[in-house]
Amino acid sequence: MPLVVQKYGGSSLADADSIKRVARRIVDTRKAGNQVCVVVSAMGDTTDELLDLADAVSPAPPERELDMLLTAGERMSMALVSMAIANLGDSARSFTGSQAGVITDDVHGKARIIDVTPGRITEALGAGHIVIVAGFQGVSQNTKEITTLGRGGSDTTAVALAAALNADVCEIYTDVDGIFTADPRIVPTARKVDRIANEEMQEMAASGAKVLMLRCVEYARRFNLPIHVRSSFSHREGTWVYQPQGEDDDVEAPIIAGVAHDRSEAKITVVGVDDSPGQAASIFKAIAEGGINIDMIVQNVSAVSTGKTDVSFTLPKTDGQRGVQVLQAIKDQLGFESLQYDDQIGKLSLVGSGMRSNPGVSATLFQALADNGINIEMISTSEIRVSVVTKDDQLDDAVRAVHTAFGLDSSDGEAVVYGGTGR
Ligand code: ASP
Ligand code: MG
Repeated sequence: MPLVVQKYGGSSLADADSIKRVARRIVDTRKAGNQVCVVVSAMGDTTDELLDLADAVSPAPPERELDMLLTAGERMSMALVSMAIANLGDSARSFTGSQAGVITDDVHGKARIIDVTPGRITEALGAGHIVIVAGFQGVSQNTKEITTLGRGGSDTTAVALAAALNADVCEIYTDVDGIFTADPRIVPTARKVDRIANEEMQEMAASGAKVLMLRCVEYARRFNLPIHVRSSFSHREGTWVYQPQGEDDDVEAPIIAGVAHDRSEAKITVVGVDDSPGQAASIFKAIAEGGINIDMIVQNVSAVSTGKTDVSFTLPKTDGQRGVQVLQAIKDQLGFESLQYDDQIGKLSLVGSGMRSNPGVSATLFQALADNGINIEMISTSEIRVSVVTKDDQLDDAVRAVHTAFGLDSSDGEAVVYGGTGR
C-alpha cells in the first residue's frame, strides 16, 4: 500500500471547522488506499501568541521553558485532528515529536534533526491507524530535553519523516495553491509554477520565501525526496519541488524562478574604520564570537574622512542589538568613529538557475528598480541569485516592479490566498 506523508500548516488548521475539513481530506486519502502519516503545525497564529505570552511574563525566557511552551501548540493540533478523524469513524493515533522518534541535537529554538527512529509510527500504520505527528519538535539525544526546530519547522518534520519512512510522496499543504513566482500577498499577479528545481527552491527559501522552510528543502535535497506543495483549501495540482536528473531535465526551466523578499534583517554600518589590514577581521571576529550570522557585507570609502572606510553588513533583526553591543565593546580598541543601526530595510532576491548562462539579468534588475525610483543600498550575488537591499517601505514596490520586468506576471487572473494572516 502506498505511504503518503502530509503536512498541514497553521492556516489550514485555524479553527474547529478547518480541523474538521482537514480531517475529511486525511480520511479521503486513507480511503483512496494509502497509509497516511500526517504532520501538523500549531493552529493559526498560536506560536506567535505563545511567544507574546512568554514575552509578557519574562523579557528573556529560559530557552528550555520556551521550547516546552511552544511545543504545546503542535500538541493541541495533533490531538484535535485525531479526535476529528475518530468522529468520522476512522482511527487515528497522535504522537509528539519525541514519541515519533525525531531525534535532534541539543540546541533549543533551532535544533537540527540528527536521526529519525519512527518505530512507533510504523507500528501504528501497520495496525491500520492514521498517524498524526506534532511537527516542529523533537528530543535531544544528549540532554533528553524537548527541542524545537525553528520557525516553520513542521515542514522539516514532514520531510524527515517521509525520508525515514521511505514514503511515496511528501505533500505540504498550505494556504496558497503551490509555489509562486513571488509572494501572492504582495504580488497579486504572481504565477503558480508547476515545478521548481530544489536548488532554486533552496535559494528562494534562504532568501526569505516562507512557503517552505529552508532546512526542509535542504533535507529533501539530501535525501532526493520530491515535495508536492499544495493548498488544503482547493483540489488543484500544486507545485513539485524536484531534483533535476541530468541537464536535459533543466532545459525547459525558465531563466528566472522567482522573486523572494525578506524583512527579517537589519543593517549595521561601522563608520570611519582605518583602511588597513586586519580591521575587517577584528569586526567580524567580534560578531562571530557573539554567535551572530551575517548575510551581506559592503565596504566603501568613508564619507567622514580620507584613509578611512565604512563597513556595512546585514544580520537578523533579532540579533541587531547584540551586534551593536559587541561592536561598541571594541570601539576604542579598533578606533572607528561610530555605529549606525538601521532596521528599516528589506531585501529583494531574484533567483534562477538560468542566470548562469544568460547575461544581462542584473542590468534588467537594476533598470527596473531605477525606473521606479528605488535606491539600492547593498548588492550581493551568488551563482543563481542577485540580491539587493532597499528601504523597507520601498520593498513591496520593488518586488512588483522586478516581477513585471522579468515577464513573470500571470495573464490568467490574480493568485488566491485562501487563509492565514501572513504573520
Ligand atoms: N508552529 C511553528 C511556527 O509557527 C512551526 C510551523 O508552523 O511549522 O513556526
Ligand atoms: Mg506556522
